Amino acid sequence: MSGGPGTTARPTWRHVSTELHSRKLKREAETLTAMVGLYCHGNHGSDREQLCTECQDLLDYALFRLGKCPYGALKPTCAKCPIHCYEPDRRARIRTVMRYAGPRMLLHRPWQAILHLLDGLRSAPEKGTKG
Ligand SMILES: [Zn+2]
Repeated sequence: MSGGPGTTARPTWRHVSTELHSRKLKREAETLTAMVGLYCHGNHGSDREQLCTECQDLLDYALFRLGKCPYGALKPTCAKCPIHCYEPDRRARIRTVMRYAGPRMLLHRPWQAILHLLDGLRSAPEKGTKG
């Protein structure tokens, strides 16, 4: 039998106001941009406003993915997201960026925003290898 009342309340994506959505996206985008800037500045000696090619590429990718996320404002964390949208290579790179920039961002940014981003990039639990 199917169609019983669900025990788990499903988030209703449709009810998210686009304003909230875009505000949160904007905040995440700003956080990402600042983090990559810090990392590039500290590790590649670039000007904060002018990323090196590699970091610019990474940031572009991250922002593109962020904008594409269909879950938008209700995205719990990316780790729980059914769409693993970061390529493994880039995910590893941006994680490095966040490890570096995270503590430094504390001075300027709400820690929650960073936590959210970091949490999202934690690798999803791999398939159990019970013997
Ligand atoms: Zn760089």
